[in-house]
Amino acid sequence: MDRRHFLKNSAFVSLGGLLIPSALLQSCRKETLFDDIQFDGKVMIIGAGAAGLYAGYILKSKGINFEILEASNIHGGRMGKLTGFADYPIDQGAQWMHGKNSIISDLVTKNNIKITLDNSDLSYWFKGQLVDSLPKDPFIFEEDDLPDVSFKDYAHQQNFDPDYDNIIEAIAGDQGASASLLSAYWNSKDEENWVSGDEDFKFEGTYFDVIDEHIAQTIISNITYNCPITSVDYTGEKIILKDASNNSYQADKVIIAVPISILKLNEIAFFPALPSAKTDAFSKFGMGPGMKVFLKFSEKFYRDGLYGGAVCAAYEDDTVGKTTSENVLLAFVMGDQATNLHALGSDNAITLALLQELDTIYNGQATANFISSVVFDYTAKPFIKGAYSYSTVGMGNAREVAAQSIDNKLFFAGEAVNTNGHHQTVHGAVESGYKAVIDILNGIQ
Ligand SMILES: Cc1cc2nc3c(=O)[nH]c(=O)nc-3n(C[C@H](O)[C@H](O)[C@H](O)COP(=O)(O)OP(=O)(O)OC[C@H]3O[C@@H](n4cnc5c(N)ncnc54)[C@H](O)[C@@H]3O)c2cc1C
Repeated sequence: MDRRHFLKNSAFVSLGGLLIPSALLQSCRKETLFDDIQFDGKVMIIGAGAAGLYAGYILKSKGINFEILEASNIHGGRMGKLTGFADYPIDQGAQWMHGKNSIISDLVTKNNIKITLDNSDLSYWFKGQLVDSLPKDPFIFEEDDLPDVSFKDYAHQQNFDPDYDNIIEAIAGDQGASASLLSAYWNSKDEENWVSGDEDFKFEGTYFDVIDEHIAQTIISNITYNCPITSVDYTGEKIILKDASNNSYQADKVIIAVPISILKLNEIAFFPALPSAKTDAFSKFGMGPGMKVFLKFSEKFYRDGLYGGAVCAAYEDDTVGKTTSENVLLAFVMGDQATNLHALGSDNAITLALLQELDTIYNGQATANFISSVVFDYTAKPFIKGAYSYSTVGMGNAREVAAQSIDNKLFFAGEAVNTNGHHQTVHGAVESGYKAVIDILNGIQ
């Protein structure tokens, strides 16, 4: 979803003064960084999502030997492209570039990639009515000194009655969470760190194309597919990795760039076991269910953006920023609502549930104009298992602990371990991949 709606609509936030590159971003822009370093060892990267791909891209630029081991048969992870559904390519996962102060934005500028500012209006389904504004501003989660309670509890403490629940659910859904699980306090701390900017941009093609063409294709021969890593033994001088088919790989350094869900579920065994501080930190992360459902219609009968559905809290006109003659509505479903839809068991049942809700909101026009749908259920993807990380009640410094390297051998990357406030995003994943490489280089100086 348009994550920055969260900020754009808030009466309490000005990010204007925050558009200053962090130390990390500044270092990312120094292309000559560590040019004098010699390293003859091999780096293995587990996971070919944005983080792992970017780590490989930087290693290649430094002339360091590396290989990316990817569990699935494709690279991109939570990014992907679908052609043939509409007359423009669909972003299966990440879609918006958030802000213009990031490594990705630099890459976009350098390569003259066309982007469009997404300024779509937001409407609400509130007390059984379609409305353009609400009696009370629900974007209350950017204030200072919020308590460490869930978004839902905080909204109730602020006297938002249950009629606002699905709107609060949509706001939490932007963060990949249910309102009952996302911490008002820790989320606001995350937002304080955010420096990439508060505008959202869409690509004429897909976000996947940007990463694919400019990063993945430059290192494609270093990616090995279909090898889910099941163990990492870092007992000896060489690190031994094994995949599900019992193939072995040897490395001097390993970058673990898998989703936090995979680490939370112990799907990779570590020898020796990871320190308990590390596994405790993993357990504090939220990474809930999430899906994107694209619904194609013969007419545009719906608003550009709509918050407040009980089946899906957030709908968005997917064609904003695209060249198309078709009408495609995106249902962005997170948290408990994604659990409910996932439990329906088939794409057809999910589509029917959404059409039923849209018929209620738009007087039967959804079913009457429906052409086709496609569902991307990230909960069901075996090597993803959820949407993206969020800060739970009691999160504390879990993100910082999860990001720390171990024994100068294991380095962690991926959106979840971005400590710049840019977790949940592609540019945050890319920054984490960059940081993992910097940490490796610092360790061999
Ligand atoms: C529905 C949805 C919408 C989103 N929208 C946006 C958006 O608009 N803008 C934005 O900036 N971000 C968005 N995001 C978030 C963004 O997609 C992610 O933050 C980012 O892509 C994560 O990259 P990553 O490299 O950390 O992880 P991933 O992309 O998940 O990559 C991890 C890789 O590890 C692999 N893997 C897992 N286990 C193993 C194993 N055992 N062995 C080997 N490989 C393994 C996986 O197959 C995967 O390829 C969205 C995410 C979702 C789910």
